[in-house]
Amino acid sequence: PVVTRFAPSPTGFLHIGGARTALFNLLFARHHGGKFLLRIEDTDRARSTQPAIEAILDGLRWLGLDWDGDEVYQFARAARHAEVAQAMLEKGAAYRCYLTQDELAAMRAEAEAAKKPLRIRSPWRDRTDGDPAVPHVVRLKAPTEGAVTIRDHVQGEVTVQNAEIDDLVLLRSDGTPTYMLAVVVDDNDMGVTHVIRGDDHLNNAFRQLPIYRAMGWDEPEYAHIPLIHGADGAKLSKRHGALGVDAYRDELGLLPEAVSNYLLRLGWGHGDDEIISREQAIAWFDLAGVGKSPSRFDLKKLENLNGHYIRQSDDDRLADLVATRLPFEISDSQADLLRRSMAALKPRAANLLELADGAGFLFRTRPLELDADAAALLEGDARSLLAQLHTALDGLVTWDTEALEAAVRTVADDAGVKLGNLAQPLRAALTGRRTSPGIFDVLALLGREESLARIADQMR
Ligand code: GLU
Repeated sequence: PVVTRFAPSPTGFLHIGGARTALFNLLFARHHGGKFLLRIEDTDRARSTQPAIEAILDGLRWLGLDWDGDEVYQFARAARHAEVAQAMLEKGAAYRCYLTQDELAAMRAEAEAAKKPLRIRSPWRDRTDGDPAVPHVVRLKAPTEGAVTIRDHVQGEVTVQNAEIDDLVLLRSDGTPTYMLAVVVDDNDMGVTHVIRGDDHLNNAFRQLPIYRAMGWDEPEYAHIPLIHGADGAKLSKRHGALGVDAYRDELGLLPEAVSNYLLRLGWGHGDDEIISREQAIAWFDLAGVGKSPSRFDLKKLENLNGHYIRQSDDDRLADLVATRLPFEISDSQADLLRRSMAALKPRAANLLELADGAGFLFRTRPLELDADAAALLEGDARSLLAQLHTALDGLVTWDTEALEAAVRTVADDAGVKLGNLAQPLRAALTGRRTSPGIFDVLALLGREESLARIADQMR
């Protein structure tokens, strides 16, 4: 059975690249009817924070990336990691290294002078006279000959000579495990069959495999996915507006299914399909469809996709989301009005901010404050036109969009002006803005009393 995992380090918030890695892991597992696990790699005690953990769990849940079972906390497993290091010592696959800081510094300086990367082969590799009571680290006794080949599902066949792999530290002198050891032990113990992660970890795979081999564990399959780049081709960073997933929700007002769909398409393709539901993604996802080159993050595209999902979205849900974004509490009847307004507002909004902004006119208090553009629409004979319209609307028997449209058109015709010359001042009077949903929808939503009052306010 397939088991995948997402293994974030909680040293920062869940960023867009991490979210995509999690998504691919989830889709691959679900596609194969397997399990998707979550491991919080909190071994870096100084940099791991509780708020970061919360943000990661929150972000994953928001995106619907629900993991199976309880999340695993890596730090809590330190004793198990040390136990494996001990087992490796006993098998002769690791050794105690007593190199001092000075000796290490000298080796570092030597490598630098020779312009070679530092690859530690400690003299303690073959010595047996060390005293375990003296502080030491435990190092991997990495194979020195031959080569390791990985058939990566994305990168293809990659080979590294063993001579290039150093005797990395497994346990520090304080007995704590290194990242390299902890990842392997945890992946093995969690039964992970496929490691899908950013290609910045490809080199680590070659350093991690010797640990599997020394322990006689089944090696996982690998898929190292290209990182996400900004529009300028450089690795995505804050500079590109790379935000935490929470900011996509809170500050940009995006829907989770839009972000998820966008992330899926970023680096994975299924023909020309752009709109892909979670169900379809699970049915279609494969590692063969993951591109080899970095994909470019395009916020405009994401926003367009979000607009699509907003238009598809259920009105009740949207109204609830918008309500939480209004700077004031709304009553039940206002909530109902908000829900009824969604059909008219949805086509014009790319995100929840625009939707909330567009809904603002519903709740404005009279007399409306007009913005400058709207005020300009009331110059000239606009006010007297509004007065004529007021009379006509006041006499309407039924207040529905059809009757309203007929009445507005008649007033414009009678006054000898184009519909727009009446509709625009009307819009200004009703919403205080120059743009809004269709004016007949606005009239219908506001209702007779409020509409007539707002028009009357601007007739003077
Ligand atoms: N904790 C690592 C990171 O956040 C990922 C380790 C892995 O996926 O193997 O970059």
